[in-house]
Amino acid sequence: NIKISIIVSVFIGLNVFSQQQKTIDERVDDLLKKMTLEEKIGQLNQYTNDANLTGPLVIKPNKQEEIKKGLLGSMLNVMGVERTRKYQELALQSRLKIPLLFGLDVIHGYKTTFPIPLAEAASWDLEAIEKSARVAAEEASASGIHWTFAPMVDISRDPRWGRVMEGAGEDTYLGSKIAIARVKGFQGNKLGELNSVMACAKHFAAYGAAVGGRDYNSVDMSDRMLWETYLPPFKAAVDAGAATFMNSFNDLNGIPATGNKYLQRDILKGKWNFNGFVVSDWGSIGEMIDHGFAKDSKDAALKAIIAGSDMDMESNAYRNNLKQLVEEKKVSVELIDDAVRRILRKKFELGLFENPFRYSDSERQKKQLNNPEHTKAAREVASKSIVLLKNENGILPLSKNVKTIGFIGPMVKLKRANHGFWAVELKEIDSSYIVSQWEGMLNKIGRNTKLLYAKGCGILDNDKSGFKEALEIANQSDVVVVSIGERHDMSGEAKSRSSINIPGVQEDLIKELQKTGKPIVVLINAGRPLVFNWIADNMPTIVYTWWLGSEAGNAIADVIFGDYNPSGKLPMTFPRTEGQIPIYYNHYNTGRPIKNDNDIVYKSGYIDITNSPKFPFGYGLSYTNFDYSNLKLSKTKITNKESIQVTMDIKNSGKFDGEEVVQLYIRDRFGSVVRPVKELKDFQKINLKAGETKTLTFIIDNQKLSFYNEKLEFGSESGEFDLMIGSSSDDIRLKDTFELID
Ligand code: BGC
Repeated sequence: NIKISIIVSVFIGLNVFSQQQKTIDERVDDLLKKMTLEEKIGQLNQYTNDANLTGPLVIKPNKQEEIKKGLLGSMLNVMGVERTRKYQELALQSRLKIPLLFGLDVIHGYKTTFPIPLAEAASWDLEAIEKSARVAAEEASASGIHWTFAPMVDISRDPRWGRVMEGAGEDTYLGSKIAIARVKGFQGNKLGELNSVMACAKHFAAYGAAVGGRDYNSVDMSDRMLWETYLPPFKAAVDAGAATFMNSFNDLNGIPATGNKYLQRDILKGKWNFNGFVVSDWGSIGEMIDHGFAKDSKDAALKAIIAGSDMDMESNAYRNNLKQLVEEKKVSVELIDDAVRRILRKKFELGLFENPFRYSDSERQKKQLNNPEHTKAAREVASKSIVLLKNENGILPLSKNVKTIGFIGPMVKLKRANHGFWAVELKEIDSSYIVSQWEGMLNKIGRNTKLLYAKGCGILDNDKSGFKEALEIANQSDVVVVSIGERHDMSGEAKSRSSINIPGVQEDLIKELQKTGKPIVVLINAGRPLVFNWIADNMPTIVYTWWLGSEAGNAIADVIFGDYNPSGKLPMTFPRTEGQIPIYYNHYNTGRPIKNDNDIVYKSGYIDITNSPKFPFGYGLSYTNFDYSNLKLSKTKITNKESIQVTMDIKNSGKFDGEEVVQLYIRDRFGSVVRPVKELKDFQKINLKAGETKTLTFIIDNQKLSFYNEKLEFGSESGEFDLMIGSSSDDIRLKDTFELID
């Protein structure tokens, strides 16, 4: 018996060894050979949870049966060790024991909530952004999650679109860098490392350019605009190793993205060689019927699989139709195999065949969900995301000895409000650990400071009855801090707004408070750029605090009292009115450009407003000053094989230590196609002690001078270029020119 068991163990050992020796592709092929057509199609299905995310587990009997038969590849919206484990146990009862994938929208944190992605983009701090994704991955991957539906890398130039909160803003270069940071943060060094989740670059493609800023709406866009502005962050995500992609609800030039072969097969899987898989957006395969692109669910399934959508999220089109489509020879088994292979490959890479429960670990979950380092990281990136818009009288930073502070406004004591759209979606119940702005302020002030509160008004209603109390509080205070803005559910999916003002009577509250003559600091909390001209013109001190996550209160207090010197810069242009939208810094010049604000006769402008934005892209103040000097170019004439080394000095000439985002823009003066008036091509976020000077180096290579010509070929053209370095797209401090020669 002992002999037999030794032989058996040696045999098993050898078998495991030989399995491990095989490449993942070989293991995928082995498995594929054993699979029936039904089982293959099963891998392409993804369903959502049958119950509340955080409620008791419910798995409907018919779903249990399907899973046990191996007819499901993935679940979304199942979270936590216990719940995912129960599902996985069912999958392991199936014939081939192929584990399920668990996907979830971990958009800006899992338990620890980070700033909304647009706010984080305002930090321009790639390390901090990567860290935020890393923490989210550490927490989610301990809770049974293998896969996050993030990052959203859609460029958007339209703040009416509610989902701007989920992206990195309007700029392609910044957006691409952030896409890379987030993919690296979520996935770590390698898929399958514990503490990592698969990333999903979404929504492929051009979702952010919906007509009128209306969510899910059509997109009509030239190929050159697509390639130049909207695709690069996706390409960057592929190059950074993003394991998955999600397609999109919109149609692009008449073809729904989900059924768009050009996007998914020709570009993504073809030209870019993407070896991961594409999941549809929620029900988007079925929605092709409503688009008027597919006759029925069967036609939708046919179009989606041919176009390269591998996994069907929640529309049941694959489940109900693919088998018949194969039998009728409308879809080849090879096409199905390709999709299945892509999905299985990721399951192998995640190590799920070795241990299907490796991501569901209650010990690790307990540790990761209560990790003080995570709270620290959330506070750090939240402070870095805050943008100081105005500080005219130098009211900020407040002294810690100020006697009485009146903290007024509907946002002051809210907790969940700081969360932002996707975090609220995940955490319906527990908001106890979120630091409200009130608590943050209390944590910070000294014993001799009195903190007074009045709500003043609600966010949305028109009731002014609280103004009286607010005025009383203001009159008793030495400084008033007012916190207003959008409610957490006013930006996000399906939260487009035609008017992006500050809702309700909040602006009126500030007008009243102004009459007290007290120094006022205005905090604006929002998920997008808002229009707030009266405040911008009349209030000397304005801080844009977005939605900052669970450490919002502490981060805001850090900035208000100068424990953190604000360094955020706007990742989107702030318009003066919705009528200027789409408005973005890297526009083309017209044949009739406006040279100054009075020069509008027969020029490309409006008769009732200037073309300039309220606050430009890249803008944000600090408590200190930075002096830019000593610009030097290693060469001023280069061929397309050469590059230029650009150096410059930057000095912190103020009294506070601080961080600055030094931005490098280029303009190609003329080309075979019109080029933007300026384009961000590099930036560095640097830290300087008061009085300190640093020399920075940038490299301008041919890639940075290249663009898509009329034939969509990417390359550079000889000619003159302007080089501009500054503190925002509109605050250029150093300039030079150089020439590209043949
Ligand atoms: C959104 C996706 C999201 C999915 C799953 C869709 O409505 O557009 O971004 O990942 O739902 O929740």
